[in-house]
Amino acid sequence: MAKPDIEIKYKQIFINNEFVPAKSGKTFPVINPANKQIIAEVAEGDKADIDAAVAAAKKAFARNSEWRKMDPSGRSKLIYKLADLIERDQEILGILECLEVGKPIGSSKQEVIFAAYSLRHYGEWCDKYFGETFQAPGNMVSMTRKEPVGVVGQIIPWNGPLAMLAWKWGPALAAGCTIVLKPAESTPLGALHVASLVKEAGFPPGVINVVPGYGHTAGAAISSHMDVNKVAFTGSVGVGKKIMEAAAASNLKRVTLELGGKSPLIVCEDFDVNTAAVMCHNFICANSGQICVAPSRVFVHESIHDAFVAKLVAQAKARKVGDPFEPEVQQGPQVNEAMYKRVLGYIEAGKKEGAKLEVGGNPIGDKGYFIEPTVFTNVTDDMKIAKEEIFGPVQCVFKFKTMEEVIERANNTTYGLAAGILTKDINKAMNFANAIEAGSVWVNCYMAFNLSAPFGGYKQSGIGRENGRYGLENYLETKTITMNINPVN
Ligand code: NAD
Repeated sequence: MAKPDIEIKYKQIFINNEFVPAKSGKTFPVINPANKQIIAEVAEGDKADIDAAVAAAKKAFARNSEWRKMDPSGRSKLIYKLADLIERDQEILGILECLEVGKPIGSSKQEVIFAAYSLRHYGEWCDKYFGETFQAPGNMVSMTRKEPVGVVGQIIPWNGPLAMLAWKWGPALAAGCTIVLKPAESTPLGALHVASLVKEAGFPPGVINVVPGYGHTAGAAISSHMDVNKVAFTGSVGVGKKIMEAAAASNLKRVTLELGGKSPLIVCEDFDVNTAAVMCHNFICANSGQICVAPSRVFVHESIHDAFVAKLVAQAKARKVGDPFEPEVQQGPQVNEAMYKRVLGYIEAGKKEGAKLEVGGNPIGDKGYFIEPTVFTNVTDDMKIAKEEIFGPVQCVFKFKTMEEVIERANNTTYGLAAGILTKDINKAMNFANAIEAGSVWVNCYMAFNLSAPFGGYKQSGIGRENGRYGLENYLETKTITMNINPVN
């Protein structure tokens, strides 16, 4: 199927509700990973553009600004309106996502709806955060007020650009903050289209600003900016550490980080082997393996290991990889050349270290960044592919004997984002859920995101939680006001 012929309208920086070129005049190419062709040249924001965006966001947050004086129900209405417009533009946003991420068109369109749903979730929170009152000695009473943290910088990745945008904007807007967002350099087009909807929805100028550009320039300018009060980041551990350093060295801005994972999924002997294999295959290959919670370490009980592997291999062989615009395609390319080479590098490392390549392991053609669904067995806990995040369609299968042993091994990682267990035994499931060091644990399901429930990582998988009340707290300061209720004068 040929790519739908669409005009890419929004390629500039969005500040104060207007699209403007980069101050440097520079642009950078956005590449279609399915055919390596340039989709669009986009304005390349850097420090000067971040300065302008932060100034706009600061002005929009000024004490008597329209945004600050707006009733919570007014903010709520704007968030709902934006969600409606995103849904209205599902077709074009889905196409942009498919073009720049390489995600199959069906999933791309679903992500648009998920983004709208995620925003609506926070439309409901605008008037649902509360302070407390405290007993104080004498005539005093203390109370707390929750107030927006101010100008927030948000730096997002390329693997779910619209969902990540919505997860970041929703709580910030519900809290009453103003925003400077930097999308990933591989995937700015969806975010820029949504920026055009910000104006249409009626947000005051400067409340939401979007600056496309590179991480080491535009991204670094956000994390070191003296007028940014909080930075929220999703991406790699290495960059997360740089952002924390920059935040500490500048103005001690608040930092929340959603980073990578090496998530274990335990398949017990009492669980249906076929269902388990289908689940493990689908969740490791979804979005070409480029999902932070992907179950990249599957521990299978030794008694069902061989039967499980046979089914997993059959699944991998049957998977349809190709042009993401073809409706029956299940897997598109890796997002860019760097990620493609990185994943192939891990596959080579696995072979070299003696893991058994059961299926896959090769690039597909040379027109785009496609990689075969890949399964390794005989993986030992000390191998590179067992320890590091591959971020590709590569499943590592491990054998285990006892729950005690597998809990120990599953926890033997620097990450702690997610984990799962497939079992009919409630005691095993609860024991595992209690013992595992991970921010999300899924029992007899996987990647089941609940927007009301907190999401985030233990250990080096991050700091802070997103979604629901927990996500909102990241964007609020707590002020204590103590009052003398019977002043003598
Ligand atoms: P990355 O961390 O380099 O990029 C994510 C975002 O950070 C992008 O917007 C990028 O421009 C920005 N950035 C890069 N350097 C920066 C800096 N010095 N200061 C501020 N911002 C900066 O991720 P990547 O290179 O695109 O992917 C590499 C790895 O990151 C993946 O293999 C995976 O492990 C991880 N990753 C995780 C997630 C997740 O959902 N947790 C998403 C994408 C990537």
